[in-house]
Amino acid sequence: MNFTRSRSLYDEAVQYIPGGVNSPVRSCKAVGTKPIFVTSGKGCHITDVDGNSYIDYVCSWGPLILGHAPEPVIKALKNTLPGGTSFGIPTPIEIEMAKKIVEMVPSIEKVRMVNSGTEAVMSAIRLARGYTGRSKIVKFDGCYHGHSDCLLVEAGSGVATLAIPGSPGVPENLVKDTISLPYNNLDAVKNLAKDIGSEIACIILEPVAGNMGVVPPGEGYLEGLRKICDDNGIVLIFDEVMTGFRVSRGGAQELYGVYPDITCLGKVIGGGMPVGAYGGSKEIMSSVAPEGNVYQAGTLSGNPLAMSAGLAQLEVLSDPAIYKELEEKSAYLEKGIMDAARKSGVDIHANRVGSMGCVFFNNRPVTDFESAKKSDTGKYASFFRSMLEEGVYLAPSQFEAYFVSTAHEEKDLDKTIEAAARAFKML
Ligand SMILES: *Cc1c(COP(=O)(O)O)cnc(C)c1O
Repeated sequence: MNFTRSRSLYDEAVQYIPGGVNSPVRSCKAVGTKPIFVTSGKGCHITDVDGNSYIDYVCSWGPLILGHAPEPVIKALKNTLPGGTSFGIPTPIEIEMAKKIVEMVPSIEKVRMVNSGTEAVMSAIRLARGYTGRSKIVKFDGCYHGHSDCLLVEAGSGVATLAIPGSPGVPENLVKDTISLPYNNLDAVKNLAKDIGSEIACIILEPVAGNMGVVPPGEGYLEGLRKICDDNGIVLIFDEVMTGFRVSRGGAQELYGVYPDITCLGKVIGGGMPVGAYGGSKEIMSSVAPEGNVYQAGTLSGNPLAMSAGLAQLEVLSDPAIYKELEEKSAYLEKGIMDAARKSGVDIHANRVGSMGCVFFNNRPVTDFESAKKSDTGKYASFFRSMLEEGVYLAPSQFEAYFVSTAHEEKDLDKTIEAAARAFKML
């Protein structure tokens, strides 16, 4: 494959943009190459500036569950655009969006729109602290909750990929109330709650972790956290920015039947536009300004362009048959890849919940950040580069998920499996 134009654009980009990218996870440092520059996408395919075409499993890091440029979303954007992009005054579509979210996500009765997942989580933490009058927050190693200060502790995603523990620019003072515990270890949480349960404002987690690769919750883990929170007056926050509308229509809470006090949403909710949201019971959301006094605001929040794209996508997803289709496609892909690896004698362990999954180059099952970190990132890098040459675009990091969309057809999945078989042979 020829990357001449991408290489020359990258050389130009690094002169004006830090690292040449507007988010570190787009960098291909960890897989020993440089980013491609994309011109367009349609369905499950993307095309780069050199005219190369790829089957895409990044899907904008999750939002594009219907693939690139799906008709309902493009149509909604076209219809809305001539009427203006933003008012900062209420518009009717904001009510439609809120009603749709309340209808789809079991534990949400009231919801506030924001512009990113980071913003949703940051606001949810403030709400939990304001509501309980407590300061301490508990998160889990390898979970990523956006880049706000108090959550950049043992975070996953790009922080894990680049192996940085926290971040310069986050004063110790701002993380002194953040406690990070191992994921999938209920005893660690029980012991902490025994000591300081009455000081903890919230426990926040990805109910299916997707930012250390994909790690599902163990049997009884979510139920156990729910109980600890109930026993200690702690707010349980599910960060469903990745899992919301992804692992099922109503997210991980619907799939596992465990309901948080606050849910954070992002990614799929915006249909590819910058959107996030946080919501919960009427009682807890009544603390948010102007109803209550926990302040949170946004100039562009709920703007009609973003709302129409998101709503159009959620309307398609209201049909539960979509999730059956996604599960079947994803299971087919996973099985094909596992079989190919076995035939080549490559040791991999795959984790998957619905249409989000991960192939770990690891000879043991991955259940937390410790075990995820034991994966062979060098092997993943080689695999990534081979797959790129084969016309398959994967996340440029072992610690990220792949996403299957409704636009991935059987022939695309077959091509991917054949490509993987060749890539495994080259390891
Ligand atoms: C992506 C992600 C975020 C951050 O969302 P942004 O829109 O990138 O700010 C937060 N939490 C989880 C679980 C995510 O996957």
